[in-house]
Amino acid sequence: MAADFQIVIIGSGPAGLSAAAHAAKKGVKHVLLEAESHINHTIFKYQKKKLVMATPEILPLRSDLEFKEESREEVIDSWTSGTNSAGANIRFNAQVTSIKGQKGEFVVGLAGGETMTAESIVLAIGVQGNLNTLRVPGAEWDKVQYQLDDPDEYQGEQIAVIGVGDAGIENALALATNNVVSVINTADDFPRAKPANAALIRAAIDKGDEPGGMITIQGGHMVPLPFGSFSDPETGRVRIRLVDVESSSYRVAREYMIRLDRKDLGDPEKLRRIATAAGLSSEAFRDRYGYLAGG
Ligand SMILES: Cc1cc2nc3c(=O)[nH]c(=O)nc-3n(C[C@H](O)[C@H](O)[C@H](O)COP(=O)(O)OP(=O)(O)OC[C@H]3O[C@@H](n4cnc5c(N)ncnc54)[C@H](O)[C@@H]3O)c2cc1C
Repeated sequence: MAADFQIVIIGSGPAGLSAAAHAAKKGVKHVLLEAESHINHTIFKYQKKKLVMATPEILPLRSDLEFKEESREEVIDSWTSGTNSAGANIRFNAQVTSIKGQKGEFVVGLAGGETMTAESIVLAIGVQGNLNTLRVPGAEWDKVQYQLDDPDEYQGEQIAVIGVGDAGIENALALATNNVVSVINTADDFPRAKPANAALIRAAIDKGDEPGGMITIQGGHMVPLPFGSFSDPETGRVRIRLVDVESSSYRVAREYMIRLDRKDLGDPEKLRRIATAAGLSSEAFRDRYGYLAGG
């Protein structure tokens, strides 16, 4: 007796979708079985607005479905419409729980008890469900999570991201907008990450440590304030104190505050002017405050 399908494809990630689009194009009788109610569950679970990187761009046997670097939302949209127009036969909420038999006469079982027969099977279920969980005391604590849906749900928190491959880096960068984020890494570089992600996190770390500061006059003394000290360690946000901009103390503070940048130290004329304002020679100023700007 002929099988129900020439090919049963299991899983609608990039691999399964590509197989289904190819099968449709070649007129092969097929069905793609997806456990969830939508295609691409792995990509669906990426953090909101994540930029999906598209490397390698050339894959043997790839279908015509478009694959380029774009946001998670754009990838989901373009693959949903691409798969529809490719004529792929997809069944959602169809979780495969068993496969029996052999080539030419497989029997595929679904949760719920239904079965179907297939000549061949493409198993494209990805690696989700096999989480690399922490194996340390506290791993079960409810503050430990393995999924980031929407980075904007977190504001003003102290967050540690453990492991900085591509996913860790993307999570850390997205969370750092509104939180204080520490990354915990076994290496002092990012060898497992894509070069673009490694460059982004290096830039973010450098920016966080950016040298520079302000020299203020407090109680008649010059007091250096590194830029980093302006943020509240609790929230990571810049500390704000409201002042009366009409007051004489504000005008004095504005007169006597020196904002120091790394390039100020490399420009002899600028350095001379700043040092003069502080009543010091250029050399003495650099010796005393140069560290603030990494000099
Ligand atoms: C957080 C994160 C970020 C990533 N970022 C990128 C990136 O920017 N660029 C990139 O190229 N790659 C990225 N990847 C990797 C990429 O997601 C995977 O390489 C890709 O999804 C694998 O495709 P796949 O088709 O093999 O499986 P998957 O995409 O994992 O799809 C498997 C599908 O099978 C379904 N399924 C599972 N079990 C069953 C079952 N029993 N019955 C029916 N259906 C089932 C699932 O619901 C799912 O829809 C990232 C991965 C993660 C986790």
